Amino acid sequence: MFAVLKFLKGSSCHQDLVGVSGEVMKYHVWRPDVDLIRHEVCFSFKDLDISCSCRLFSEMGILCSHSLRILNIHCVATIPDKYILKRWTKRVVEDRTVENVCGVASGGWVIQIGRKFQRLVLSSQDNSKAREACEDAFQNAKMKIEAEIGPIFFEDGEQTTDGVIQNPSRSRPKGERNKRLISTIEKKYKYARGRKNYSKYVELNTKAAVQSSVRESVSSMVGSGYLVHPSGGSSSKLVHFNPNEST
Ligand SMILES: [Zn+2]
Repeated sequence: MFAVLKFLKGSSCHQDLVGVSGEVMKYHVWRPDVDLIRHEVCFSFKDLDISCSCRLFSEMGILCSHSLRILNIHCVATIPDKYILKRWTKRVVEDRTVENVCGVASGGWVIQIGRKFQRLVLSSQDNSKAREACEDAFQNAKMKIEAEIGPIFFEDGEQTTDGVIQNPSRSRPKGERNKRLISTIEKKYKYARGRKNYSKYVELNTKAAVQSSVRESVSSMVGSGYLVHPSGGSSSKLVHFNPNEST
């Protein structure tokens, strides 16, 4: 709810009432100096039905700023329940957490089971039979779990031979300094990052130029009118709207 209120305050949309039929009012909504194309919002003040040609709600389940603007100017203080889908509510998050294994929230479960296994392993370390039992149990559990959720990769693979821990394969002789070589990946990464920064710079400049030229050509095209994304019908066709000509 907080986010919504903030959004309402921050939204700088303007609207024109362009038609009324029965209880339904049709508005064109846009942000001045930002939007080239206006959206069409239909609002029924009887049952608070609202729809917008940007389709944010019908496709994403999120009420758009255009609709919020219209609700706002009609002094609808709280958003109608039908526009707050269950999947966005706090309740759903709570339900999901509780659904986890044995009624223990998943974070707590990870810690508990981790401690149990650690206890088992630590208790077994000085007894070869116990160690064997641990390894068997591990393989067994791994197989069963992978059957459920697919393969799991363990980073530190088999480095033990007959229960004796070996030196890592790349250990250096005593006295030699740990000089890290710059890896090919790191070099490539730095190179790519440089290119990315440069391309970002180019992109920004190009975008600004294209935007202003589009803005110019659109404004010369529409004259005293503007372009509207109409609601309903063929979605992608823009409609030229001239307030002076409208009936
Ligand atoms: Zn919208």
